Parts: sequence; structure tokens; C-alpha cells
Amino acid sequence: MEIIIGKQGSQRMPIDEPTVSRRHCRVISNGDGTYTIENLSQNGTKVDGVDIIRTTVRPNSRIQLGPRFSATLAELIGPTDMPKSEPKTFNISHLRRVWSDFNQGNIEMAKKQQKTNLVRTGFGIFTMCATPTIFLLGDVGYLFTGIGILGNIYSFVGMKNAESIEDRQLRQDAFDEAWICPNPECSRTLPARNYRLLLHNYQSCPYCKCKYVEK
Ligand SMILES: [Zn+2]
Repeated sequence: MEIIIGKQGSQRMPIDEPTVSRRHCRVISNGDGTYTIENLSQNGTKVDGVDIIRTTVRPNSRIQLGPRFSATLAELIGPTDMPKSEPKTFNISHLRRVWSDFNQGNIEMAKKQQKTNLVRTGFGIFTMCATPTIFLLGDVGYLFTGIGILGNIYSFVGMKNAESIEDRQLRQDAFDEAWICPNPECSRTLPARNYRLLLHNYQSCPYCKCKYVEK
């Protein structure tokens, strides 16, 4: 990682000081929490009060650019560029259950609804066919039609939908509450739509960067 610091640099802290060059110095991470800084400006760079051409610095080193501007390295490049500690690893096997319960619920509800819909359609068609039989069969036709109408009423009033909108929402809420990053410092909703994707495609949290494994 390399950052050019200056008025047109890529550092986090904006610099608007005439005595700082557009590209004043270069900072390169050494990967061990220290950085190599290299002066690029005729106005000079000082580290903790000492003129440097190239030297090793730490986040709390005070960097002076030219005669008037100074800040610590951390202030200049920001905490996001500090070396991160190794990402933590979390076991996500409990999420397999969370996903499969929710998914199983969805499938069951869909099947139940399908059955209900089938009965409703059946009685609908039966009634439609029964009505003309009044003209052909007389009283028996009325009986068929009556059965059809009662069946229709039953299929809509007696047979409930597999799941009310409220129940569906409750089930979704319970899933959303459990479908979160297992890192207690993160707990954000997981990006993957299902467990397999989470385990094989994501393998880590996009927010806290913790790693996911199944033990
Ligand atoms: Zn996370």
C-alpha cells in the first residue's frame, strides 16, 4: 500500500496549505505496523522535528510538511490504513439450521396453499358444471349446484390460507433476526440469500471481514 501525501495526495486528511507541495511525500506500509516515508518535496519533510529523506515511521510519528504544516501519520492517512489485526473466525454451523428451518417452512406453506387452491378451483369448476344440469336433470341439478355452492363457501370460509400475511411476516422477522453475522461486534444481516452461498461463496463477512467456517 502506497499513499502520496500532499495537496493533491491521496491521504485522508485534506491539506490546503501553500507551503505543502502537491506531492509532498510518499508513505508505504511495511506490513508490520510501521511505514516508510520518503520526502518528494523541495520544501522538505520532517519526522518528529528531524529533516528526512527516507525513514521509518509509526502511526503516532509527527510528520511536518514544509515549514508550517504538521500532523501525525495517523491523522494524515486515517485509521482505515492502519494494519488490521487478523480477522476473527466464527463457526456458522448454527446458521445451517436457521436457513433450513425457514426454507422448510416456505416449502410447507407453499404446498398447503397449493392444496387449498386446488380444492377452491375444484369446487369452482364443479359449481360451473353443475348449474347447467338444472335444465337437464331438474331437482338433481339443483342438488349438484347446492353442493357446489356450499363447497365453494367452505373452501373460502372454512379452509384458511396456509399462512396469514401476519404469520408470514412473523416468520420472516424471526429469520431476519437470526440471519446475522455471528460476530457479536458486527451482527449485521448476512448478504447471502442462503446457507450454501454463505459458506461457499462469501466465506467471510463483507462488513467486519470475519471469516466463516463450518465446524
Ligand atoms: Zn460481520
